[in-house]
Amino acid sequence: MSQSPRANAERLWQSLRSMSDIGATPAGGVTRLTLTKLDGEARDLFVGWAKEAGCTIRIDPFGNIFARREGRRPDLPPVVIGSHLDTQPAGGNYDGVYGVLAALEVVRALNDAQLDTERSIEVVSWTNEEGARFQPPMLGSGVFTGVFSLDFGLSLTDKEGIRLGDALSDIGYAGTDHIAATSIHAALEVHIEQGPVLEKEAIDIGVVTGAQGQRRYEIQLTGQSAHAGTTPLDYRADAALGLARSIEAVRRIGIAQGEAARATVGYVSLSPNSPNVVAGGAVFSVEFRHVENNTLDIMEEALLKEIQQIADDTKLEHSVERIIDYAPISFDSRMVDLVEQTAKQYQYSYKRMVSGAGHDACYLSRVTPTAMIFIPCVDGISHNEAEQIYPNWAEAGANVLLGAALAKANDVEK
Ligand SMILES: [Zn+2]
Repeated sequence: MSQSPRANAERLWQSLRSMSDIGATPAGGVTRLTLTKLDGEARDLFVGWAKEAGCTIRIDPFGNIFARREGRRPDLPPVVIGSHLDTQPAGGNYDGVYGVLAALEVVRALNDAQLDTERSIEVVSWTNEEGARFQPPMLGSGVFTGVFSLDFGLSLTDKEGIRLGDALSDIGYAGTDHIAATSIHAALEVHIEQGPVLEKEAIDIGVVTGAQGQRRYEIQLTGQSAHAGTTPLDYRADAALGLARSIEAVRRIGIAQGEAARATVGYVSLSPNSPNVVAGGAVFSVEFRHVENNTLDIMEEALLKEIQQIADDTKLEHSVERIIDYAPISFDSRMVDLVEQTAKQYQYSYKRMVSGAGHDACYLSRVTPTAMIFIPCVDGISHNEAEQIYPNWAEAGANVLLGAALAKANDVEK
């Protein structure tokens, strides 16, 4: 046990602090949207550090950065570790950034320990994980793994009409290196939990077994807008009433599937949305999440039935359109076991858990054995300037990443 190399907690924390200066907000968070000048600065800082640590830098045509610490056998597929440097607007200092800098700390710690590995280790920073400036999220890893075509990704535009491809060129990160997604030995991503469980239960490490599936719907209810004074209640086709009943129904559908189910109405819009007019139309979102696809099927069926019933009862027309369908992800069981074993080896408390959010690792898991490591974050707050972690939490995640990456980098059997 004592021979296990360890992350340098202070260096990791210092690096996090320095990175936080780029795009820092007065409230202590950071705004560093993908492919902005600030994102370019963050990339430059990371690349500079990686070079100092002896890495070779490659950048693919979508701007994903790969910093390679060469192994003894460069011909073998590498182990890929990392996350993303972009943030939400008024976002936090750790979502994604921690995963990239902890991966960099793995390289630095291996250098300190003068440990060579059989396979190369590549620290990766994926482009546009957040999907705040360009939709959809997890775009860099999605293009890399073939979920989206390169042309699709490059031709997306932001609110100002700027093409992603142009933004990428402007900051100097339109690379020309072709890195094959098909020859990666294993992938690992460490990330803050973005939920309250680990902190509440005082657990150091989340051993992530997979990610929830997600389905999102856009629902329209159409009635008749009418004068609020002259139209008796019985003669109304009131979309606001249909909306209210639908929100209740969505919660019921969630509760019926137990603790692991999530059911959310997060967006609503009434028209004409005027205090003295009966609403003639309602548009709202419904989002379901669960680890089992067939539970999502059951929830969807219940939703269609409930909305039909509500529309009939309230004399409304209705339409339900499914606009997102992400299947649940199960990470490679041997990779999950490895993360658990490594947490044990470093004597951290741990718990198996499912990710409630999407991550680059979800797409990576399509092309290579993949797992994720979670660390706690204060009050589970994320995508927020108040996002906070402590140095010892950061250290624990980096140590588990280090141990697991080292094991995979020395695993020369196919
Ligand atoms: Zn993230």
